[in-house]
Amino acid sequence: MTTQLQALWSTRFERLTEGVILSLGSPDGPDVLGTEPIEGGFSPHRCDTCNGPAGDRYAASSPWNGGEDWIGWSVCVDCVQWIANAELPDDESIRANHPDLAEEADEEAGE
Ligand SMILES: [Zn+2]
Repeated sequence: MTTQLQALWSTRFERLTEGVILSLGSPDGPDVLGTEPIEGGFSPHRCDTCNGPAGDRYAASSPWNGGEDWIGWSVCVDCVQWIANAELPDDESIRANHPDLAEEADEEAGE
């Protein structure tokens, strides 16, 4: 069952990655690297695909130029699970990492 928070999260993910087919791994070899964190792990920047806060990052990539090239994405662990297994982060994780989404869900629930 998908909670309202999870629905909000996946909507945001889809909006930020519209039309993009993502696989795990770096642009140098999308099939080679799996779920190992990017070397140096931590990034102060927001997640490329869900806009989550600074934290450990993993490599993902999407085909470009008709599949001749790949574009690199730097994604958080929640997004890894979603890209790999279509597994949504749990509400607790969404609340911790996306206070704005939590607020939105609470406002809707309060109506
Ligand atoms: Zn993310």
